Amino acid sequence: MSPTATPGELLRLLRDGQSRTRAELVAETGLARSTVRARLDALVDAGLVTDRGNGASTGGRPASRFVFNARSRLVLAAEVGATHATVAVTDLTGEPLATDRLNLDIADGPDVVLGTLARTWQKLVDEQDAPVAGVGIGLPGPVEHSTGRPTNPPIMPGWNGYDVPARVRQDFDVPVLVDNEVNLMALGEHTRCHPTEQHMIVVKVATGIGSGLISNGALHRGAVGAAGDLGHILAPGAGDVPCRCGNTGCLEAVASGPAIAAKLTEAGIPARTSKDVVALVQSGNPAAGQAVRQAGRDIGEVLAGGVSLFNPSLIVMGGSLSQAGEMLLAGVREAIYRRSLPLATEHLRIVPSQTADSAAMLGAAAMVVQHALSPDVLDRELA
Ligand SMILES: [Zn+2]
Repeated sequence: MSPTATPGELLRLLRDGQSRTRAELVAETGLARSTVRARLDALVDAGLVTDRGNGASTGGRPASRFVFNARSRLVLAAEVGATHATVAVTDLTGEPLATDRLNLDIADGPDVVLGTLARTWQKLVDEQDAPVAGVGIGLPGPVEHSTGRPTNPPIMPGWNGYDVPARVRQDFDVPVLVDNEVNLMALGEHTRCHPTEQHMIVVKVATGIGSGLISNGALHRGAVGAAGDLGHILAPGAGDVPCRCGNTGCLEAVASGPAIAAKLTEAGIPARTSKDVVALVQSGNPAAGQAVRQAGRDIGEVLAGGVSLFNPSLIVMGGSLSQAGEMLLAGVREAIYRRSLPLATEHLRIVPSQTADSAAMLGAAAMVVQHALSPDVLDRELA
């Protein structure tokens, strides 16, 4: 750490949750004792750091021990799907303090949906005793992250170009950050389950197919936020199957939940959604098991291109179809190992998601924490 370290940079050190004395912080940072004292005073005044006492005695009284106070601010997070939302209040580590699951219809439009979220957050916040640092929202469609506006989202009538942050700030006048749910799933899986992985791909297989990329330990959104759009890459063997995007032969058109369901229905096994497919697999239906395994192979063939280009060390499979269990993973592994060069797969692990259906909510909270506690933002706030 540079000798000019700011309060924000000092807090970054303390966010590991370990308590430290002033002397330990002086040794760790190389800052003058007076500087550490001033920086700590600013953080303690802001409530972000607590003096815990009980340090080793340095002669007379025990030295103070300073520790990050994750409960000093609240984060409001939500993951919005087509027909439901997971809404939470978290602390500054992204740990949920209270959570609610709502049924809603994204097609009711932004004013109704965001109003419902605001009322739910208000109810959850009323039970807590700390100010709100920011709001994070994951939406089921493309979002221009820099402005928080959805961009031509296919299943979200009325949302195109809508200023989501401005609407939320009518109720909570704090920074509001918005992204698509798959990016936030990747951020959630990374921060909660795999924080030391530097390069990973998180795949969501459900009604659609998408992915989020973690590159050098950070979310990679690409030039306009469109990175990771796995579902509309041409799948080998997809032929000319039409896709909802208007093209033919997309991965999503052959390997998504509804695509598998349609194939099963054609073969005389009625199914419509990912949920139906998962239920059939879990009941031991061999045709459904084979269809999911083939979808895994189709996804793996396309992902193999991503493995060669991006060289991840971890691929996480999530989304409702991943609840079909080993069949999907087995197909993905089979195709990736067959199609990739040995060096690219030598240290590659392919694992199921561990955050079930709350990954994007946890990612929304992590996005706000990263923003609110970044030295840039925090030092401006404390100045
Ligand atoms: Zn497509």
